[in-house]
Formats: sequence, C-alpha cells, structure tokens
Amino acid sequence: MFKKILIANRGEIALRIIRACREMGILSVAVYSEADRESLHVKSADQSVCIGPAQPSESYLKIQNIISAALVTGADAIHPGYGFLSENAGFARIIEEQGITFIGPSAAAIENMGDKAVARETMIRAGVPVVPGSDGIVGDTGRALEIAEKIGYPVIVKASAGGGGKGMRVVHSPENLIKSVQTARSEAKAAFGSSDVYMEKYLEEPRHIEFQILGDRHGNIVYLGERDCSIQRRNQKVIEEAPSTALNQSLREEMGRMALMAAAAVGYHSAGTIEFLLDRNKEFYFIEMNTRIQVEHPVTEMITGIDLVKEQIAIAAGEKLSVSQQDIKVTGWAIECRINAEDPARNFTPFPGVITRYIPPGGPWVRVDSAAYQGWEVPRHYDSLIGKIITWGRDRGEAIERMRRALGEFRIEGVMTTIPFHQKVLDNAFFKRGEIYTNFIQRRISE
Ligand code: ADP
Repeated sequence: MFKKILIANRGEIALRIIRACREMGILSVAVYSEADRESLHVKSADQSVCIGPAQPSESYLKIQNIISAALVTGADAIHPGYGFLSENAGFARIIEEQGITFIGPSAAAIENMGDKAVARETMIRAGVPVVPGSDGIVGDTGRALEIAEKIGYPVIVKASAGGGGKGMRVVHSPENLIKSVQTARSEAKAAFGSSDVYMEKYLEEPRHIEFQILGDRHGNIVYLGERDCSIQRRNQKVIEEAPSTALNQSLREEMGRMALMAAAAVGYHSAGTIEFLLDRNKEFYFIEMNTRIQVEHPVTEMITGIDLVKEQIAIAAGEKLSVSQQDIKVTGWAIECRINAEDPARNFTPFPGVITRYIPPGGPWVRVDSAAYQGWEVPRHYDSLIGKIITWGRDRGEAIERMRRALGEFRIEGVMTTIPFHQKVLDNAFFKRGEIYTNFIQRRISE
C-alpha cells in the first residue's frame, strides 16, 4: 500500500480524499495556491506545499509544480480528485514516468473516453446504445444537414472536448443548422482548444441516469447501481439521488450490464461513471463516461456502504476489489444537494466573500462534505461550491424530509447561497412524486 499520497486538488474533494487516506493509515500531502493558504484541506493534511498563484493555470493545472511537490515530499501516488487535471491523460502519463502512481485509470482509457466523439464511436463498436446522431465528428456542414434530416429535428450540436454542461447547442430547424455548427465550432475552439463537434438527436424531457462502476487491475469489474441526476440548471447537476424512481430491477440490470460493457471496451480500472439519457419510452442511450471520482459519489456510498475513494486507492495500489457484484446491496435512498455561493435572485452569479457565520446541519443520516468554516473566504478564482449535504432515508420520502430538515438547519451568513433554491425544489409536488427530467427546473421552478 502507498505510504504517502499527494492530492492534486482543493476544497471539499481534497478533504474527502485526505479523510480516506487517514482511515487507511496513509500520509497525505495537500497542494494549494496562494488564494487557498487558509483552506481546510491545507490545515487537515499531514504536509502541504504551495504550488503557485491563484489562477488555476499557474497552480492546480501546472503539471511541473505538482510533480515537483510530489518529488520533494516523497509521495508515491497522486490523487487528482475531479476537475483540474483529473481527466488529463498527459498528466497521468507523466507522473507514471516519474515512478509515481496515478490514482485513476490508464492514460489510454482517459484518452479514449475524454474525447466525446471518440467515446461515442468506441461505444457504437462495443454494441452499447448511443443517442442517434453522427458516427463521429461532423466534418462538413452539408453532412450535418444530411444527418439532421435523417434523425429529425431538434438536434444538439456538442463539442467533442466539452464538459461541465458547456459547448452544447440545440437546433430546431435546417435554417439554423449550418450557422449553429459554425458557431459551435468556434466556441468549442475558444473554450476547449478543439473545434471538433458531433451531433445527436435532442431528446425531449429525458432523465440523466448514470452508473457507478469499479474495476480493478485484475479484470474484476462491478457496478454499484445508478444515480439520477435529472435536476440540472443549464445542463449542470444540482441535485442527485440514488436509486432512481425511473428504473425497475430488470431495466437496472440491463443498464448495469451495458455500463460494464462500456467500461470493458476501454480496459477500464479505477472508479468511473457511465452516463446515459433515458427517454420517455424507457429507451436508454450512452452519452459519456467520466473517468474520475464525481461530485455526486456520496449518494452511492450512502446506499451501498462502500467507500469509493478507499476502493480507488486500493485499486491503484494493485489490490483486488473488496466486493463482488453479489455483495453489492442497495439499502434505502440518498439525496445530495450542492450548496453554492451564488445569488439565485441574480441568475446564480457567483457570490465570493467571507463566511461570517457557519453552522452545518447534523443529526441522524446527514452527511456534509465541505471545506468551509466560519471566517473562511470563498475565493473568486474557483467554482462556487461551498459544500454538499447528503441525506439518507429508508425510502425516498424519508430522505427528502431529512434533507428539508438539514437545509433548514444550515446557517451560512456573509455570502448568498443556493439553499433557498433547493428548498423550493424539494417542496415541489412533481419533485416529491419523482416526476423529474433534465428540463425540470426550467419548466417547474420559477427562478
Ligand atoms: P457534459 O460533458 O458537458 O456534462 P453531457 O454530454 O454529459 O455533457 O450532457 C450534459 C447534459 O446535457 C445531460 O445530462 C442532458 O441534460 C443534456 N444533454 C446532453 N445530450 C443531450 C441530448 N442528446 N438530448 C437532450 N439533452 C442532452
């Protein structure tokens, strides 16, 4: 097992990984930018190294600074968390060349799944259903018109290198298609450094259903049920739950089997997520794979009792999975609300500043994953996540009631937060009945 792990990340996920290290008797090294000097992940780690100024490009994305920190502190592995360098195949490759283990899949698997058009082609070859659309990248606009004609409007044009809900454009008629493809290309180039785009049929009111998988380096692979991440704002997840009200056991098993096939197609090891859209006819389609730990991983941990970060670390160290498919039992229901420092009344603009009062919720079956504390300043340089509340209940109703209680207990002053917005969603009658889909907020919640 590793002796010392460097965490190439910040905030709540860095803290989450430090906690796993501590429970495993592994020393932890935090890295931080000048803006994060007072961060809880820095205070909690066994050692810490400043890796540069506030701008991510000069610190959390600066590969040579992170490698130097690992070499200086004698870390034998690096955990990338989510975001930043977590899906950077070059980073995975370079650190392995230095004799340091990357806690994640192989660089080749990241490459195969990181480019969404390539991933789509790989899934078609593997026999995993994808949303009807282009085979790969849309080369010329004439071809785009042909494909759209065949699959029918509306279509969605997506950046191959896109992520975080960005780089997507819905097109309703042929008149707008050529211009949209061109705009999508230049936007993709500016945002992600590649102008490659591909096309899918735009599904109406789908659910976002994703499967958590774990694979080791010995060929064992399991899925840990699904998460329903249909509550989104601008294609970004806001509330996640597990299991999903949309699946029965046979559909769950079929989707789980496809998720395993998808992962096997790229020789996957580590924790990963296969994302699907499920349409109103209960047809499901692969949209992408995330080759890292995800923000919403705690809901799966709550219903399975399996610590995904510990498994990830053990897998990277060459151990076999601690569970087989038959061992994985889903119990009860879990929900997660992402609490951001944002002003819901001003179109959710980030609201950085000092937290003057901070009293987190507690009590039975309430988990708070956060790196915030009273007196801490939410920096303006990074995403605005303050923390996540996760509640568990024996059934969905109990998990929701517990979340309402927890949201009511949470006191954060000094910055605006999305807590009132979550309360509005949880009070919605359609939400309570589980009638949710990716455009739910747009349709049902007045912002
Ligand atoms: P990202 O990598 O940016 O997260 P995804 O491909 O995972 O992008 O899609 C994010 C979200 O965008 C989905 O959960 C869904 O809400 C919406 N979306 C993506 N593709 C489609 C589609 N073909 N039809 C309808 N909605 C889609």
